[in-house]
Amino acid sequence: MKYYIENSDVKYGVDEFGRNISFMNKISGHEYVSTPSHVWKIILAEGQRSEQPVFAEDQTSKIETDGNTLTIEYNSLIAAGKKLDISLKLTFTLEGSMISVTSFIENKSGLTVTELNITAASGIHSLDGNPSSDRIMWPSNYGKIIESPALSDLSVYSGFRKYERHDFLHTDLDLLYPGGSGSMPWFDLYGGSEGLYVASHGLSHETVCLHVERDIKTSLLSLGVIRYPFTSRGESWMGEPIVYCPHAGDWREGSRIYRRFTDSSEYFKAPELPEWVRNTEGWLRVILKPHHCEINWDYKKIPELYDGAAAAGLDTIYLLGWEKGGFARMWPDFVADDNTKDGLGTEKELREGIEYVHSKGGKVIMFLSYFLIDHKSDFYLKEGGGECTIKSIWDEEVPFAETYCGEGTYRKLPNPPMPMYGACPGSEKWHGKMISIAQYCLDLGCDGVLYDLGGLKPYLCFSDKHDHKKPNLACAGKADRFGDLRRVVKSYGDDKIILMEHIVDCFNQHMDIVHGSRMYPDSKSNVPDMYRYTFPELVMTNRELGEDEDKMYDNINFTFIYGLTFDMTIYRCCGSMADVPGYAAYMKKIIDLRKKYAKYLHYGKFIGDDGFTVDKGSVRAKAFRADDGSVGVALWNRRHETVEAVIRSEAGTDYNVELEADGAGFVEISNS
Ligand SMILES: [Zn+2]
Repeated sequence: MKYYIENSDVKYGVDEFGRNISFMNKISGHEYVSTPSHVWKIILAEGQRSEQPVFAEDQTSKIETDGNTLTIEYNSLIAAGKKLDISLKLTFTLEGSMISVTSFIENKSGLTVTELNITAASGIHSLDGNPSSDRIMWPSNYGKIIESPALSDLSVYSGFRKYERHDFLHTDLDLLYPGGSGSMPWFDLYGGSEGLYVASHGLSHETVCLHVERDIKTSLLSLGVIRYPFTSRGESWMGEPIVYCPHAGDWREGSRIYRRFTDSSEYFKAPELPEWVRNTEGWLRVILKPHHCEINWDYKKIPELYDGAAAAGLDTIYLLGWEKGGFARMWPDFVADDNTKDGLGTEKELREGIEYVHSKGGKVIMFLSYFLIDHKSDFYLKEGGGECTIKSIWDEEVPFAETYCGEGTYRKLPNPPMPMYGACPGSEKWHGKMISIAQYCLDLGCDGVLYDLGGLKPYLCFSDKHDHKKPNLACAGKADRFGDLRRVVKSYGDDKIILMEHIVDCFNQHMDIVHGSRMYPDSKSNVPDMYRYTFPELVMTNRELGEDEDKMYDNINFTFIYGLTFDMTIYRCCGSMADVPGYAAYMKKIIDLRKKYAKYLHYGKFIGDDGFTVDKGSVRAKAFRADDGSVGVALWNRRHETVEAVIRSEAGTDYNVELEADGAGFVEISNS
């Protein structure tokens, strides 16, 4: 039997085996499904059998259609030939071009339903018959392009060895959200002149996993989202919508669909930014006291460091390792040093350093860790910090450790990393600590606090000491807690700011500046466009492009065309501007260009490739739209010689521009 829901845009169908038999984009005329394939899979846990699969094809279902709704209902499930008292209902609703899939599970068995994998678009070889030109825009950090997914071994993106997963059956793209590297809960398969948007439209901030599965025998793709309900005996569970929307154009249309969802649901509300943040050019990031405690600079050197940064056009200094214990030790005991002999100096000297920067019109940001707990810290030993840590499925804390070394080797090479452990965002006690350390820094006079590791992997947490009811809800209150931290920071004045490391939309909405993931100007697959295009109002850093003078033109010009602020991490935060005079000089020149076109680059919005074309492949260009609607294009000449390029506006007007070798430029265009 075959069952369909259909309107003028889309035809969608399943058979009695719970397989997707049709997903047709009626506007383009393309049928996406080439072979019927599964739309769901459940994983159950019982004792030693902790990953018992339940496959759609093994079940007996009742399927009904009613107008634009299709339901598949199972009164019980069969797993390994055994009937289980677990019911499942999937509801597919078609509205316009969008299909929304919700789920309901009722568990009367003794097993736990740990995982529900929905792949409602399944059995796809290509969108338009040409799999080699298909791409997936994948929300890993700023964005990642996966080429020809139906023709690729997707396990190369997983980070696991072949032994560790069922790669002999299917290779998968998987991305947890919110956090880890999952910045948004949507992706887009696009090719030819159309695309298919896939997303979780939930509001709960539960841990989910974006999922693309490629059958290695058939090269067919199944697209969807995995949820982790952990539904036990006597419990029922409702799954939030998983959404599919075929569309014309490329991934940018997917971005617009997602943004409409976040705007209409208020899932994301852009932060109100202080004037100085809108105008910021970036910071010099320094570690005063590194992990090995051989001091780079003491508090008295803060003025000298800032003056060097300011001379290069930067306006902020970002202090790491300012704490008594040194960088990546004794956290979260964030207190100033009190050692003038061989330490950083005194709290008074730190205050004086901050006051000096203020006297020059600059800003000071201080580092805090949102994630790490040292077992040797006072917080852990004396303040009951042990209750804050994440408990993994192994009933253990989650280690996260790096040893940073200096001239020696004995600490790092013949030893494991110095251990620290992850705190759960669902711990009220941890939230209290995050508030108090921010207050401490703001009381010292600084202008903002940056929560490092603010968007780490959304681990399932099995602790019973936290406020989340289920392991998948460990991050459910995290965005609200960042909102609360923002209120604490703003209680010191509207100009005080909160910052975080990592790109995660629901957390970033509470941040004045987002310190993103590492950039790669030469990468064809890692592209900032996806996140910048979706949330252009966020102020973001270029992250670690200012290490030394190697490839400095590429790094600076790349930063310029994406409208990012400079994160100068000279010699891994152990150098100053004096170490990179060439970089400092060219960056100053580009900062002056940013100031000249502030209307677009500081006050406008990134619109990427919209609104113009450029005639030279060697010129990379990205556009910005000012508040008054005018458009400007930031340009980067990748050739080592002067280039003349023509920018053509949407209205058909040509603008000739000459760019210096390895140089950058900007042109204002008219689209009317
Ligand atoms: Zn927890």
